[in-house]
Amino acid sequence: MEKLYIPEPYSAGILLTYKCTSACKHCLYACSPEWKADFLSLEDAERILSQLAEKMRGKYPFPGRIGVNDGIHFTGGEPFMNFELLLQVVRIAAELDMPSRFVETNAAWCIDDETTREKLRALREAGLHGILISANPFTLEYVPFERTERAARIAREVFPPYNVIVYQGLFYEQFRQLGLKGTLVFEDYLRIGGGALQYMELFASGRAAYALSYLFPRHPAERFFGMSCRNELIRDWHIHVDNYGNFMPGFCGGLSLGDARELDTLCREGIDLDERPVLKALLTDLKDLYDLGKQFGYEEMEEGYVSKCHLCLDIRRHLVQRGDFKELQPRVFYEHLGG
Ligand code: SF4
Ligand code: SF4
Repeated sequence: MEKLYIPEPYSAGILLTYKCTSACKHCLYACSPEWKADFLSLEDAERILSQLAEKMRGKYPFPGRIGVNDGIHFTGGEPFMNFELLLQVVRIAAELDMPSRFVETNAAWCIDDETTREKLRALREAGLHGILISANPFTLEYVPFERTERAARIAREVFPPYNVIVYQGLFYEQFRQLGLKGTLVFEDYLRIGGGALQYMELFASGRAAYALSYLFPRHPAERFFGMSCRNELIRDWHIHVDNYGNFMPGFCGGLSLGDARELDTLCREGIDLDERPVLKALLTDLKDLYDLGKQFGYEEMEEGYVSKCHLCLDIRRHLVQRGDFKELQPRVFYEHLGG
């Protein structure tokens, strides 16, 4: 039996839900308002967080300071869609004394100063250290910029300013300088300020692989043969866990290394790769995944692929409809990719 041993995570993001107020073109997890309103249960939250807390203990010299890939953060989807749940999971994380506790939000809920202040204060009192506010041309299609500005302004009153991250600050400043109000469709953004995109950390993965493929050069599948995803799949520095309990490596939406509710066992005993042919192929060579796809009738896209993740996703999207691959979770993720 061939096994994969998973290193203990140093930091993690918990998706409270895949449901979101937005359907951003760059979303790695293909979140949108179309998803069912499934949320993480408190029982699962306790199980997952208590195991993660043990793995993070003692590793942070400044546990009250947040960092994008540090500690524990709550995300989605949009975590403020279930504010009571968000409060409760923050309380659990605080009781467990988890480091670098923050929430990631698109700020769509920041409709006025009072509501914004009230919710952020409640979160701080529950034990949250800080916040990450999304600012980029894709969320701007859905979230009026004045809400992003409000979130940033009030967050800096409520939390220490060093624990307020506007991601990415470059776009935030650009939108301010452009005097933007309301939302802006992406094509209009491209016309007035698209040059700044060269500075964006944009992964041609998730929904972006389809919705933004026209921005990138395309290549035949063969171009990606010989590449393996070993580093992405077994890195320890940052993982995600979704509301169904899937342990997702890095930023690879739709892939699960197993049940994060059994994290201790997963890290201790590893996983059987013979039962997970997609993972096995990805750990070896994208060519192996391509060959696996072919066995199940996959046909290469004539127009080509923008990245190895695009090829990987397209094959996985085909496979998920043809067989029972336990590593392709949640299955419904593949219905929300578009393209
Ligand atoms: S990128 Fe964030 S705001 Fe946009 S759809 Fe995904 S989860 Fe929602
Ligand atoms: S090719 Fe697939 S497994 Fe590799 S990093 Fe991209 S999405 Fe993840």
